Amino acid sequence: MSGHKLLFSGLKLWTSGSCRWTGRHHDGVNRRGKAASFSSCSPKVCIVGGGPAGFYTAQHLIKARQDVEVDVYERLPVPFGLVRFGVAPDHPEVKNVINTFTQTAKHSRCSFYGNVNVGKDVSVEELQQAYHAVVLSYGAEGNRSMGVPGEDLAGVYSAKDFVGWYNGLPSCRQLSPDLSCETAVVTGQGNVALDVARILLCPIDILKKTDITQPALEALAESHVRRVLIVGRRGPIQVACTIKELREMVNLRDTRPEMMAADFEGVTEALKDLPRPRKRLTELMLKTALETPEEKERERRNKASRTWGFRFFRSPVEILADPDHKRTAGIRLAVNRLEGSGDASRAVLTGEVEDVTCGLVISSIGYKSLPIDPSVPFDQRKAIVPNNMGRVQQAAGLYCSGWLKTGPTGVIATTMNNSFDTARSLVEDLDSGTLVVSAAKPGSQSISALLDKRGVKPVLFSDWEKIDIVEMKQGEAIGKPREKLLTVEEMLLEARK
Ligand code: FAD
Repeated sequence: MSGHKLLFSGLKLWTSGSCRWTGRHHDGVNRRGKAASFSSCSPKVCIVGGGPAGFYTAQHLIKARQDVEVDVYERLPVPFGLVRFGVAPDHPEVKNVINTFTQTAKHSRCSFYGNVNVGKDVSVEELQQAYHAVVLSYGAEGNRSMGVPGEDLAGVYSAKDFVGWYNGLPSCRQLSPDLSCETAVVTGQGNVALDVARILLCPIDILKKTDITQPALEALAESHVRRVLIVGRRGPIQVACTIKELREMVNLRDTRPEMMAADFEGVTEALKDLPRPRKRLTELMLKTALETPEEKERERRNKASRTWGFRFFRSPVEILADPDHKRTAGIRLAVNRLEGSGDASRAVLTGEVEDVTCGLVISSIGYKSLPIDPSVPFDQRKAIVPNNMGRVQQAAGLYCSGWLKTGPTGVIATTMNNSFDTARSLVEDLDSGTLVVSAAKPGSQSISALLDKRGVKPVLFSDWEKIDIVEMKQGEAIGKPREKLLTVEEMLLEARK
């Protein structure tokens, strides 16, 4: 009896009318796993991470159920994750997804709380107490290291940090990469590796019309890098990049390709068995590497002052130091051969090695999710939260989406689909009563109080819009679409004006 009273008074405190006691049942406890007594409670869902996964999950939840309320918690004072801090500055069309995310953030049943570091400012358990469901969508903020001697020498960077630096990620502001050498080696042959190579070689007059940060633009304008080698352990048929990125590289102004014909042995013969997208990509690579270009293109290539090329069948084994043992002077590569064919083929060491002189090494062998809270199951080997269609295993009410769910692969459209799938799982659980919403939950009300006690002041979406305006004005003044604020302090200052 007293239990009912407590529950009821608690309800009044928390819900300001959004949850109605139906009076049809005498207990607020769900015995059959079905929504029973509080049939019209608004399900309160919390999403951790304001990147594409977070916003797409929120979008689908809001659309699928008219009663769901969604709060998005984001570590940084600014939203959109890798759309802001990953996507290359010369890919502005990719960033148009921000318009859809903004619509979601401004929906009456969605709220954004930036500047909240989940796992530090508030725990996942606390969020679970405050919400009926928690969706983890915090991406993949770590990176895989090459694990070779010399990796900590000056002149070696992870692609994650390098990309963060030119895109204005506050934690990478101080990177100031040394671009005084002529040759750079990028290890890895995915789209991120090609982004890095392209930015290193891109003519400055193209970059200066993008939202690349001003310090990066100035450093690149002074850069001595003229040659970028993109190294992969397997062959041309196994590269992980897509045709759009390869085509951009092939057509990049003032550059010419520098490939090794021997790497393409047997590739023409293998073409016929490749699936269509892979076939088109390989054809472009073959054409670039082996065919004599027509006159106009020949002329363009002859005039180019910079070169780029793939180096296939090579794995990094050591970063070589200069005589003072301080800086990178080169990279030692093991020469591989392939066992098996197609995607399933394996690189096997031949015992041969090859040294390449270079002053800059950027390792682009993958991002990696990290655990943020000891209460959440985490698969260390796969570096993901173990899940079944987005339902975190053995953790009722906990879900995941985006790169944290699948691992760090795929474009924004892939992330969208897997986030919609997670939202569908959550809606299914609501509809079936597996996810119990009979008891009212306080949602942001109790979390805001907790954060306040801990001295954390969230940045709302309307605060971000103030930052947005400042950045666009700063950009406009120098002919760029945006000039980003580079520190959390500056962002908070503008947000609170
Ligand atoms: P993220 O985008 O990383 O978002 C995760 C969010 O969670 C971030 O905002 C982060 O700050 C936040 N977060 C992290 N930890 C916490 C915490 N403890 N508490 C609260 N919030 C937290 N795709 C394309 O389609 N086109 C491209 O051109 C393209 N370029 C890319 C370039 C690079 C360099 C990279 C790495 C990826 C690129 N992608 C591109 C892929 C695309 O960015 C991803 O598919 C997508 O961003 C993954 O979304 P996500 O939400 O899972 O992760």
